[in-house]
Amino acid sequence: MRTLITNGHIVTAIADYEGDILIDGEKVAAVSVPGAFASLQVDTVLDAQGKYIFPGAIDVHTHMELPLPATVASDDFETGTIAAACGGTTTIIDFANQQRGHTLADALQTWHNKADGKAVIDYGFHITITDLAAAPETAMDDMVTAGVTTFKLLMAYPGTFMVDDETIYRVLRRSAKIGGLVMVHAENGIVIDLLVREAVAAGHTAPGFHALTRPAILEGEAAQRAITLAAFADAPLYIVHVSCAHALHTVAAARVKGLPVWGETCPQYLYLNDSHYASPGFESAKFVCTPPMRSIADNEALWLGLQRRELQVVSTDHAPFHFAGQKELGLHDFTKIPNGLPGVEHRVVLLYEGVRTGKLALQHFVDLIATAPAKLFGLYPRKGTIAPGSDADLVIFNPERKMTISAATQHQHVDYTPYEGMQVQGIPEAVLLRGGVIVRDGEYVGGKGGGQYLRRATFSEELTEV
Ligand SMILES: [Zn+2]
Repeated sequence: MRTLITNGHIVTAIADYEGDILIDGEKVAAVSVPGAFASLQVDTVLDAQGKYIFPGAIDVHTHMELPLPATVASDDFETGTIAAACGGTTTIIDFANQQRGHTLADALQTWHNKADGKAVIDYGFHITITDLAAAPETAMDDMVTAGVTTFKLLMAYPGTFMVDDETIYRVLRRSAKIGGLVMVHAENGIVIDLLVREAVAAGHTAPGFHALTRPAILEGEAAQRAITLAAFADAPLYIVHVSCAHALHTVAAARVKGLPVWGETCPQYLYLNDSHYASPGFESAKFVCTPPMRSIADNEALWLGLQRRELQVVSTDHAPFHFAGQKELGLHDFTKIPNGLPGVEHRVVLLYEGVRTGKLALQHFVDLIATAPAKLFGLYPRKGTIAPGSDADLVIFNPERKMTISAATQHQHVDYTPYEGMQVQGIPEAVLLRGGVIVRDGEYVGGKGGGQYLRRATFSEELTEV
């Protein structure tokens, strides 16, 4: 099966040019000047006149079907990856969470059971480590063998996910030896827990107190602590969902010193702010996620952080919960609101607004959504670029078409979107996964469960030096 994409404007992280793409089977076979393949016999021709062609986007931070104590995230691997595909994302890396007292292998198997045969785009897993007593460091080696080369640690949520500094250090030390990359959720969970208990005791139970009890400075403190421990362990480190100037500046300062530290932010921290918590009634529960929305000054600092390449990746932390029946679990107590926002479908269009408004160069945008994630997470050059031999994961993007983001038209299985009513210009019209068209005119047209599990390579620092 050969497919030819003609007349498009091809964009990678390092070049953009008019060109034609020849696809043979699941791979890009060749890329050349317009018309170069005109004499070839092909099965399908897609005309991309007036469109951009981006590498399929990679979202390295999703939580499909995430189990919380009282409920489960509303997107499973089928609905969530269909929504991702419609938004131009062809690969996700989701978090398989170790339950305390269980092994890492249990966690990986549990997530395979959720995803295998259901995901419609390619997928990999990170392992979230919560309990080294139940899974000694050598269990991390088995994960690397299974293609899971990234280890997530949370410094927040004491009693469930939070790990102490000893665990952080031990995981960093082992990870450095076996070619892993440690990802940290940076927040001082102990002090936050005190603030939360004090707020509840004082009768402050409205959703806005979620944000007030998780101040930005405690994210900065934890980010710095993680960076210090990583430096001591001589380990590379990736800080997830940087939401504020405090944490951004610790990452930037570490990088100036030459430390192997990278960071991501998410569209919610670029576009939404803490004014959403001032909404009357329970409406602001729609914006309860961790870290919470910060100030407009933090939004601006993060845009600047992207421009200066202090942060390398934009992911989503997609963790959707319906407002009705799920967010409402915390109607009388903000601590019972499931934490998380939907977002996997809208990352590409939201970040493209950064291009349209002059904040990001086009190639840099591609780097943030596809190339840098592929390089940092052991998928490059199979994913994250458009070149001979790479998977033919491609987005045909119409920069002229406008769209209004709305729960009424989204594919995410959730009853709201935090971006309701926002107008964007530039949408993924068609999406190819390994050579097959899975989205046409913005709608999913692929089959069931066509996503493949991705065994990822170990961490390579050279790749990240662009
Ligand atoms: Zn997350």
